[in-house]
Amino acid sequence: MLAVRELAAALADLVLPRTCAGCELPGAVLCRRCAALLAVLHLAQPRRFPAGFPPTVAAGAYAGPVRPAVNAFKERGRAELARPLGAALALAVAGVLAGLPERPGPVRLVPVPSGAAALRARGRDHVRELTGRAVVELRAAGVPAGEARLLRRAGRARDSAGLSAAQRRANLTGSFALRGGRPAVPAGAVLVVVDDVVTSGATLTEAAAVLAPALPPDGPPVLAAVVAATPRRAPGTAPGPTPGATRPASIRRLSGPVNGD
Ligand SMILES: [Zn+2]
Repeated sequence: MLAVRELAAALADLVLPRTCAGCELPGAVLCRRCAALLAVLHLAQPRRFPAGFPPTVAAGAYAGPVRPAVNAFKERGRAELARPLGAALALAVAGVLAGLPERPGPVRLVPVPSGAAALRARGRDHVRELTGRAVVELRAAGVPAGEARLLRRAGRARDSAGLSAAQRRANLTGSFALRGGRPAVPAGAVLVVVDDVVTSGATLTEAAAVLAPALPPDGPPVLAAVVAATPRRAPGTAPGPTPGATRPASIRRLSGPVNGD
């Protein structure tokens, strides 16, 4: 399925002129300016910080050209964006790992599972595509990362579009469960829940709560990383980017979305 989709995208590139998914400039699937907006690591801070919201790093703000870029990948099947967006997710994972007091052992990226209706509508699991790319990027940078599909959908959460933050939380409660009861997690592993976008924080909070029992009580908590986070303030007044000079080596080694194509 994925191979056919990638082939179709490659053929489309030959037939149609490529434009940036963020700003529609002809040329790259994501131009350098737009890609640079996904190398602005920051802590995600949902407006109404849900209790139990995991420490979450976002690669960029879900605003400006980042919104159409993420939506082109998610809803319009522009599979070629998996590369730059996956690289952005890898940066975010490295960013949240950098907050740990010690160098982590095995790192397991846990994709947020899509609902059955969303999977049917899109014909693919876009978060898993991002996760796969992020794992490749992290391994290339020397981070012992792997994918762990520890979560499955449970219950009957409705589509969250149009719901308030409180409604989203109520809608999601009980919507995830551990796959296979209590899955084996490698000793000393760090779990990082990964998703495309964080908005209210309800999804990541629920996922972290379900995963916590799979970790030893004395280890680091469940962490999370996303491509983009809904900005808390209006775009332009958000805190500046993390200075590159202070980034840990694991982040500097990553190619980042700017070099992806
Ligand atoms: Zn652009």
